[in-house]
Amino acid sequence: MSRTLIKIKNGTVHLEDRALVTDVLVADGLIADIGRIGYAIDDCETIDAAGLHLLPGLIDIHTHLDGRVGTCQLADTWATGSEIAIRNGITTLCGFITQGGSAPLQAAVEESLARAAGRSHCDYAFHLTPVGFDKADWACIEKLLADDFRTFKFYTTYREAGLFLDYGKLREAMGRIGDMGAKVLVHCEDDGLLAAARAAVTDASDPYSHALSRPAGAEVEGIARVLEIAQRTKCPCHIVHLSTVEGATLISQARQDLSVTCETCPQYLFLSEESLRQPAGHRYICSPPLRSESIRAQLNQLALQGSFDAYATDHCAFMRTDKDAEKSDYAKVPNGLAGIGALVPLVYELHRDPAALARHLALHPAKIAGLYPRKGAIRKGGDADLVILDAEGPERPVRSSLADVHEPYPGRTTRLGIRRVLRRGETAVENGELKDGQRHTGKRV
Ligand SMILES: [Zn+2]
Repeated sequence: MSRTLIKIKNGTVHLEDRALVTDVLVADGLIADIGRIGYAIDDCETIDAAGLHLLPGLIDIHTHLDGRVGTCQLADTWATGSEIAIRNGITTLCGFITQGGSAPLQAAVEESLARAAGRSHCDYAFHLTPVGFDKADWACIEKLLADDFRTFKFYTTYREAGLFLDYGKLREAMGRIGDMGAKVLVHCEDDGLLAAARAAVTDASDPYSHALSRPAGAEVEGIARVLEIAQRTKCPCHIVHLSTVEGATLISQARQDLSVTCETCPQYLFLSEESLRQPAGHRYICSPPLRSESIRAQLNQLALQGSFDAYATDHCAFMRTDKDAEKSDYAKVPNGLAGIGALVPLVYELHRDPAALARHLALHPAKIAGLYPRKGAIRKGGDADLVILDAEGPERPVRSSLADVHEPYPGRTTRLGIRRVLRRGETAVENGELKDGQRHTGKRV
């Protein structure tokens, strides 16, 4: 069988530690060489990337696709979620698998793997949420670790959904998982403070009550407690969807002697609770909630200083009809916003620097999710997930999802052009258009 060879020449190549104008050779889905390739190669496709940026395939480590949340079906399937992703240069998505009550985690894993198989344009990985911790559960967790599951996700709230772990149980779980050499992702909002805030809400018909019911202080307390546990257990941890300045400060202090990372999401950088106060404000209900304009502005400053290791979407999109069905009671509106398609344009709008995309949307996310060095960087031997990006392309609308959802960023446009996306060496997107049709050749990694 002949080898599939592609040479991408003259692009500004964003390596892990620097950017330089050079060539990249792809052979059989892997990066075979980086540097000026002067010699002639037979049967090699050549792509001229002069004036363009060559980035590693981008990664969204926090997405909710193809399943139910509460009583609602998620609007995006792996097919639609991965399509808008790859058209924006995202080649790997991470989803979640949650153990269903008394059924073994293994059953949920098999179901989720079957749902994603053959339906994704992107490669994908999963974070696991066990809810049972008896002997059989731990045996299952060990088996899954051996099967290349690398990360676990826990919640300090969501009692009704069966996800809540009190700090004692969390400490036990993080102790064991840390000992096994794995990592935990934690949703940090203190459940006691949330319950108290919820009880104080007087007008359930006002969407702004959602923000009142989940105050910033609950996140800060949750983070403080989780960092304390991480300190005691030495379990590496990643704080998801950070939405507070004090939370970010606690994490940066803890970095000195802990393995801790964090992500924030575009909604906390580009939207504020003013959206909840507008007509149809319920459409902006997500958790943690959108914060004040002042917090949003401070989070922007922190982002530009590099305080957030990664950006991720927490994409959790519901159909318009589902989002609107119970709009007169904030507590019944499904929590979550669409975001996958907006991630790359918005992060670029913030940083105005392709190197920041390589760092915060590829290298760091890959390390957090345990996918590095196979993913996340342009390096010899790694998967040839590559994005050729035009920083000054024709203006196009920002679109978060292909499903029938409320667009959180209506009217926004971007000039970030996605000229070509290679996923493991195969052209998946050319000039923003899907090239691999409905073949869905994304694999679990
Ligand atoms: Zn989430």
